[in-house]
Amino acid sequence: MPTLFTKIIAGQIPAAFVFRDELWVGFLDIHPSSAGHALLVPVVEGASIAQLPAQTLATLGDRLARLIGAVKAGTGCDDVNVVVNDGPAAGQEVAHAHLHVIPRWNGDGRRPFAQKHAYGEGELAAMAARLTAAWR
Ligand code: AMP
Repeated sequence: MPTLFTKIIAGQIPAAFVFRDELWVGFLDIHPSSAGHALLVPVVEGASIAQLPAQTLATLGDRLARLIGAVKAGTGCDDVNVVVNDGPAAGQEVAHAHLHVIPRWNGDGRRPFAQKHAYGEGELAAMAARLTAAWR
């Protein structure tokens, strides 16, 4: 059975995409820890990062660096948390490997996952458009 993220990649469930290519996609988390919280998701299924094929792993650094750049440029945040919940004991809820890129601002005092940001009407799409425009 396809994972939730495979359904998103296939277009069966809508998402606010930042980029997509043959190996990786980036889209906004629907329950963000802060505004602009993005997910980096491999196209291929595998619950753990360690299960991903070599070609996917070989391109991870490039896509992660570019997504961090897009999140920082698109949100104006100072820094980011990059978080991987790898396995249920580590808090992974969607069994399809992914990395969280969570914007942080100096002195924001936020605790990723413990706190959530609520987008207003149209803000999710607008945020995705800003990050896509900043994608290099
Ligand atoms: P994890 O706990 O590391 O497995 O994180 C899964 C993430 O997927 C959570 O932060 C969810 O908010 C996010 N998520 C769940 N459903 C969707 C969806 N339909 N679109 C975007 N993000 C989602």
